[in-house]
Amino acid sequence: MVHAEKYDVVVIGGGVAGLFFSRLIAEKGFTIALVEMKPLSEIGRKVCGDAIDKKYFAKLNLKEPTGSEVENIVKEVRVYSPSERSYLTVKGVGYQLNRKAFGQRLLREAMESGVIVFDKSYLKKAILKKSLVSEVIIYDGNRKNDIALKGRVFVDASGIAGALRTKLPTDWWISEKLNYRETAVAYREIRFLSSNIEDPDVLRIYLSQEKAPGGYWWFFPKGLRKVNVGLGIRGGTDLNPRSIFYKYIASRGFFKGSEIVDSGGGVVPTRRPLRTLVFSNVVAIGDAAFTANPIHGGGIGPSLTSAWAASKAMLNALEVGEISTEKLWLTNKLYIRAYGAKQGSLDFLRIFLQNLSDEDLNYIIEKKVISEDEFLELSITGDLRMSIVEKMLKALKFIRRTSLLLKLRVLADYMRKAKQHYLAYPENPSDLLRWEHKLLKLYREFMERLGIRAGVY
Ligand SMILES: Cc1cc2nc3c(=O)[nH]c(=O)nc-3n(C[C@H](O)[C@H](O)[C@H](O)COP(=O)(O)OP(=O)(O)OC[C@H]3O[C@@H](n4cnc5c(N)ncnc54)[C@H](O)[C@@H]3O)c2cc1C
Repeated sequence: MVHAEKYDVVVIGGGVAGLFFSRLIAEKGFTIALVEMKPLSEIGRKVCGDAIDKKYFAKLNLKEPTGSEVENIVKEVRVYSPSERSYLTVKGVGYQLNRKAFGQRLLREAMESGVIVFDKSYLKKAILKKSLVSEVIIYDGNRKNDIALKGRVFVDASGIAGALRTKLPTDWWISEKLNYRETAVAYREIRFLSSNIEDPDVLRIYLSQEKAPGGYWWFFPKGLRKVNVGLGIRGGTDLNPRSIFYKYIASRGFFKGSEIVDSGGGVVPTRRPLRTLVFSNVVAIGDAAFTANPIHGGGIGPSLTSAWAASKAMLNALEVGEISTEKLWLTNKLYIRAYGAKQGSLDFLRIFLQNLSDEDLNYIIEKKVISEDEFLELSITGDLRMSIVEKMLKALKFIRRTSLLLKLRVLADYMRKAKQHYLAYPENPSDLLRWEHKLLKLYREFMERLGIRAGVY
């Protein structure tokens, strides 16, 4: 018999999603255990671009990062064309975080609220009883033994691994499998440079199918002479982002005489959210629920947003003492309203961009086919207004690239349809599969209209 402990909620994973979520639940007096592989002192460390929009903090009522958590405050993002001759600007204040310091703060807040952390520990097995998870078996790295954690609800916040949800029966909707073609695989370094960075408060994203197939490379200053630089490509291929990084990026001037501070690889989901973030007494949040932005992989803010949505629904359910898919369903509604609908629409844009040539990307950015204001609106709302596309078509139809513009019209149409479909997300779980069937039909139609072969998106 293994030692057993009982909690209201058991969370697997102490990244931003798990830590923020646990704190929100513990604050209300419920008992909660959080299981994390890393030792306490390493919690927060993560290979990441470290950028987050300032807006998330006020929205989620989360204290703004200060002191050592902030390495740089940025004022805009520039998205460069493959030729690097032109760029689009998205204005907006954001932080370059020190991920470890930020994570350590979230950890401190969680522990001060009463969260019990099992560090150096990992999930081994989920035990099911009567269509519920009744307990999980973890290896407790401090006791050096397996122990059982019993709970009323179990939360998968284990990042892209989806350590808990992928151990559940395949007919549990939450166990949906990840297609690695819908991820970005990245390599990034943090470096001290030998000379000052021009405009250190500007983040740069470089689009290029040649240098970063299906993704981009980035240059995010952390100060005058420190930078987070990396390259992400579409997953599910044999390509190695580190090799490509060293082929194209390390030969650049800024690399000369620079010193490496940290390096590593990582994977981020770049797709629509999990069809449902809840099933039975299990909830998935953050990367485990595929909440990152499909275009740029920014997932810190969306992970925190999904944690907030899940905490609201769970507190309601715990207070009435009834845990079920129905009672936790509010998680989906809140998340979709706050972020998921935009994410669903941007997934269509992701497919579009991944199938665009460098020549077309150059044309769109250099000719300002889409203006900076329109680009900003698109990045904030996930809406590419049809009126914009119509305007472009009228102005440019007879010049060149009619076929590209016609494809943009299809894109705008399907982004709108996708967003509307997400906003009509079912009120009840019983309508989910019908809803999902229609969503997948939209994907199929979209790809057919753009001539993209099924299975390659
Ligand atoms: C290279 C790269 C660059 C990125 N750049 C940005 C960026 O600039 N801005 C941005 O907003 N987002 C960025 N992201 C995405 C962002 O990092 C993630 O979306 C976000 O960290 C997800 O948080 P999470 O808490 O869901 O998961 P994670 O941060 O992955 O946390 C999951 C935790 O679960 C633990 N765990 C896993 N399995 C188990 C197990 N079996 N038992 C116990 N513990 C377990 C892990 O140790 C980890 O601590 C980037 C991602 C990558 C890979």
